[in-house]
Amino acid sequence: MFRKILIANRGEIALRVQRACRELGIPTVAVHSTADSDAMHVRLADESVCIGPPAARDSYLNMAAILSAAVVTGADAIHPGYGFLSENATFAEMVEDHGVAFIGPSPSHIRMMGDKIAAKTAMRRLGVPLVPGSDGALPDLDAAQEIAARVGYPVLIKAAAGGGGRGMKVAHSEAELAEAWRLARQEAHAAFGNDEVYLEKYLDRPRHVELQILADSHGQVVHFGERDCSLQRRHQKLLEEAGSPALDATERDTIGATATAALRELGYRNAGTLEFLYQDGQFAFIEMNTRLQVEHPVTEMVCGVDLVREQIRLAAGEPLGYTQKDITFSGHAIECRVNAEDPETFLPTPGRVEAFHAPGGLGVRVDSALYAGYVVPPYYDSMVAKLIVHAPTRADAIARLRRALEEFAVVGIKTTLPLHQRIVDDEAFQRGDYSIHWLERFVSQTK
Ligand code: ADP
Repeated sequence: MFRKILIANRGEIALRVQRACRELGIPTVAVHSTADSDAMHVRLADESVCIGPPAARDSYLNMAAILSAAVVTGADAIHPGYGFLSENATFAEMVEDHGVAFIGPSPSHIRMMGDKIAAKTAMRRLGVPLVPGSDGALPDLDAAQEIAARVGYPVLIKAAAGGGGRGMKVAHSEAELAEAWRLARQEAHAAFGNDEVYLEKYLDRPRHVELQILADSHGQVVHFGERDCSLQRRHQKLLEEAGSPALDATERDTIGATATAALRELGYRNAGTLEFLYQDGQFAFIEMNTRLQVEHPVTEMVCGVDLVREQIRLAAGEPLGYTQKDITFSGHAIECRVNAEDPETFLPTPGRVEAFHAPGGLGVRVDSALYAGYVVPPYYDSMVAKLIVHAPTRADAIARLRRALEEFAVVGIKTTLPLHQRIVDDEAFQRGDYSIHWLERFVSQTK
């Protein structure tokens, strides 16, 4: 097992990883920018190292500074959390070249899945169902037109290097295709320095259903069921559930068997998530995330597993120690992302938190680095807390969520808590009757 783990992240996820380390008896090193000197992840770590000025590119994305911090403090492993360097194959390679373990998959798998075209090609070969579309990168607009005509409009032009919903444009007709093609390439070039794009049929009412996987370095791969992350605004998830209200146990077993077989064949290791669109009983793979996800707690609640502890054990070379049939599902869990954003305009609301009260009680979990007096800096992602509830049934979980939201107080800055209150009171949400397009309409209708 590792002697000391450096956590290359900030906010709630840095705390989340620290908690797992502490329970395993492993000391932690926090890294932070000058804007985060007072942050909770720094206060609670065993050691901390300042790695640069506020801008993420100079601190949390500064590979040399982070690696130096690991070497200087004698850390023998780095946990990247999510975002920042978590899906950067070059960083993972650099870390391993210096004899430090990267808590995640191999650099080659990170690289493969980071290129969405390569990921889809691999999954096609392994028999995983895909969204109909181009077989690879589109060489020119003519090719896009030809494929769009074959799969039928509307279609989506997507960036090969995509992430965070950027470089993605819909075209409803051939007349719109040239513009979508131009804009997607432009956005992809600006965001990722790579203007390679591909085409998918645009599904009109899919759900976003994703599968949590763990793999050891001894050929064992298991899944922990699905999360439904259909409630999204601008392709960003806002509320997630486990399990999906739309899936039954047989469908879960079938897609789980396909996905775990594919990853076993690939020789994948550590944690990963396969994202699918699900419509009319059909799954279609869209991408794989080679890291821990923001929404991992809902899976932890229904499966009774500590996914971060498992990541650390697996990175240290330990075998899983259990098989698929040992993984059971109990009850229902829902997570709300609490963002420091105006709940109507969604503009960021950094500033001082005057008072903070987290809800509690049976089946309630709050993952947050907030405290009264903390000043939310303007430089980073706006998510400041996750509220997770767990109960025997989905209806019970919704009642518990409503109660917990009533108790939750963040005073001084606006947050998305009022939006979550509106969502839990909505009848369509309560029925579980929603697709990925539901939230955008809900937000514009209930303003
Ligand atoms: P990113 O990596 O930028 O997040 P994804 O491929 O994961 O991009 O897609 C993000 C979201 O965009 C999905 O969760 C879904 O809401 C929507 N989306 C992606 N592909 C399609 C599609 N073919 N049809 C309809 N919606 C899609």
